[in-house]
Amino acid sequence: MPAAAGSETGAAEIKPRIGVLAVQGGFQRHVEHLELAGADPFEVRLPVDLEGLDGLILPGGESTTIVMGIENAGLAPAILAHHEAGRPILGTCAGMIVAGREHLGLIDITTKRNAFGRQLASFEDDIEVDGVLEGTIRAVFIRAPWVESTGEGVKVLSEVRDHPVAVRQGTVTALSFHPELTPDNRIHKWFTGACTA
Ligand code: GLN
Repeated sequence: MPAAAGSETGAAEIKPRIGVLAVQGGFQRHVEHLELAGADPFEVRLPVDLEGLDGLILPGGESTTIVMGIENAGLAPAILAHHEAGRPILGTCAGMIVAGREHLGLIDITTKRNAFGRQLASFEDDIEVDGVLEGTIRAVFIRAPWVESTGEGVKVLSEVRDHPVAVRQGTVTALSFHPELTPDNRIHKWFTGACTA
């Protein structure tokens, strides 16, 4: 259930309750960013945790471990139901891989793991993300995937080295990078807004 909080104007303000999948990986920083963005974050470990969420973040980490954790906890049906109800989902890095066609199938993409190569295990770049941000954002890539193929209806929002690193299909957005690892809160603000509608 969304928590109500008073705003500066005195009008009731509803904070969207946004789940962060917390089976493995970098979920804690997402929780902190969501709080700063004015959401009511919630760590998701069990199917029941998906109830009443307005949005869901699939964080970075190790996609094979996250996929195993989802299976062990029996989380897939609840995540799919969340998606089918039209509630927004944001996948970042390993979360992009998990959201793709080869795993949960929330977005019609295939991904290439560790795509930027060993020599570029991690790097940063200033990128634009169409329709999400004004100007550029400092994007941190850590053993990042890129999008290998996109189905119809998938919009490419950003490319690095000629490969998509931000994509959207309907209510699902997937990013190759880690927006939770810089102080820039705009991605979480944008997602919180998308979950408020
Ligand atoms: N290389 C990881 C994977 O393939 C993703 C890395 C990340 O999430 N930072 O699952």
